[in-house]
Amino acid sequence: LQQQKEEDRYDSMTLAMDTVINTTIYDERGEELLLEVEQEIQRLEGLFSVTKADSDISKLNANAGKEETALSEETYALLKTSKEISTETGGSFDITISPVVKLWGFTEEEHHVPSQTEIDQAMALVDEDQLLMEENNTAYLEEEGMAVDLGAIAKGYASDVVADLLRQEGVESALISLGGNLACIGTKPDGSLWEAALANPLDETDYVGLFQVSDCFLITSGGYQRYFEQDGKRYHHIIDPDTGYPAESGLLSVTILSEDGTKADALSTALFVMGLDRALDFWRNSDDFEAVLITEDGRVIATEGAAAVFSFEGRDNDFTY
Ligand code: ADP
Ligand code: MG
Ligand code: MG
Repeated sequence: LQQQKEEDRYDSMTLAMDTVINTTIYDERGEELLLEVEQEIQRLEGLFSVTKADSDISKLNANAGKEETALSEETYALLKTSKEISTETGGSFDITISPVVKLWGFTEEEHHVPSQTEIDQAMALVDEDQLLMEENNTAYLEEEGMAVDLGAIAKGYASDVVADLLRQEGVESALISLGGNLACIGTKPDGSLWEAALANPLDETDYVGLFQVSDCFLITSGGYQRYFEQDGKRYHHIIDPDTGYPAESGLLSVTILSEDGTKADALSTALFVMGLDRALDFWRNSDDFEAVLITEDGRVIATEGAAAVFSFEGRDNDFTY
């Protein structure tokens, strides 16, 4: 944990939930609040991790096909939300995709391209209808080998929890970045809007434009964030639950803007799987988020509400708007 004080500005950088977390708080109690934020994120990682053996999710997975697992209220609620989003997105978002994610080596960072037979076997274990939500915060995976992975929603949920915590403490100005997941609390200390860059998916040191926002979550999913290469081909970590292969939907990234961080995270993944046309249809039928989508052929498409807070700021790049 690094800490630095600049008047009433407090920053920290820490590693948790498999990513780098940067927090900036403008408040005289910053030091104390940074510690609270860090503890909260660690607590959530302890519930949701797929690699820590004593997490709620690891217990649920280990008991698959054997017995029910009693979960914390929070894990149970997040599983329920995940199932709802799975239904809403027609299965593009599916937390039971875990056996396939593991097969490709993204869980343990031991990457390899599986055979079709291996993919078929793992895909037979993907079925969110077989994740049963029972009484008293208990859940059950019906078949041995089934498993749940909250990697596409847990960081968004954590950003919601942390934003709530800071707001309840009366903080009026803070930013938390969990990997590609940004929570903006209030405004800059001088009352002006936060500025957040939208990364160029072809070159992460570059950006394609700027958001100017207050009080919201900005969450990006892309094939450029976590991937490996084999025989000159790139394989990324967002799996299409229809095929068992990394989604090839013609998109390079999807950024969701919403007041709901949990939903923004899940939808960034789901819309990436859907591809541009289905994603825009989905947006037309929703009223709780906006999106910016970057296509493989170099277009940047912003929904109405996103366009209102996004600009190229004179950036000269290959993307059109
Ligand atoms: P990041 O973790 O980089 O923020 P995402 O939010 O898109 O990216 O989540 C990707 C992670 O979610 C993968 O590493 C995997 O664990 C899991 N995952 C992959 N494909 C899906 C999917 N179709 N639905 C739900 N979870 C998925
Ligand atoms: Mg996501
Ligand atoms: Mg994410």
